[in-house]
Amino acid sequence: MRILVFSDIHANLTALEAVLENAGCVDAAWCLGDLVGYGPDPNECIERLQDLPNLECILGNHDAATLKQIDSAMFNPEARNAIHWTQNTLNAENLKFLSILPQKMIYNDITLVHGSPRQPVWEYLLDVYNATKSFEYLETPYCFVGHTHIPILYHLADDRNSAKLYIPKPGKGLSLQPRMILNPGSVGQPRDRDPRAAYAILDDQARSWEFYRVEYDIQSVQRRMEAARLSPRHIQRLSAGW
Ligand code: ZN
Repeated sequence: MRILVFSDIHANLTALEAVLENAGCVDAAWCLGDLVGYGPDPNECIERLQDLPNLECILGNHDAATLKQIDSAMFNPEARNAIHWTQNTLNAENLKFLSILPQKMIYNDITLVHGSPRQPVWEYLLDVYNATKSFEYLETPYCFVGHTHIPILYHLADDRNSAKLYIPKPGKGLSLQPRMILNPGSVGQPRDRDPRAAYAILDDQARSWEFYRVEYDIQSVQRRMEAARLSPRHIQRLSAGW
């Protein structure tokens, strides 16, 4: 199967549409959480996702906060405002869609979580120390995560001493090897100083993974954010990709 693996859409419909068009025909779509928060299109993104074939979707921390499963006081003031705006904007049906998302899914030998195998919703895997620790909690050879908004790959070698970190180049394919944690990056709010939307394509038979980036009309999203009176800092950061 050709599977779209993507994360952190953050209510950015324009970026999501660009990813779907660029990815082309897929057999399944695995979304690793944070469908909402920050962006202006939470209802539209949740509805668009449901058109995708064999969709699997994991709960992210912003989704959990929107559902009041996580106290919004745990977020910085601007992210908290975006969560409150999202709570007031989402319709009942789309809130219900978020409310049934699992924190973790295992598909054959692949674990899907938003944060990490140790803390599925909340932990950021930003360094090799935490990534190495994470492998102790992983029940499958492979794990796909989101949450940091940075495309990355961690691999724990046979000696299990310390994970190695790789920053991928877009368009470059790689073969999956056991004890890998992969992050496809963020669709709607990249944070690696590359403002293009990020995603990955998995071929689960060939065991191959490819990272991709795609340009989208950032200004149109910024205009909708301004109209919704969302945080100026969040509007600005989309252009710079941080
Ligand atoms: Zn996120």
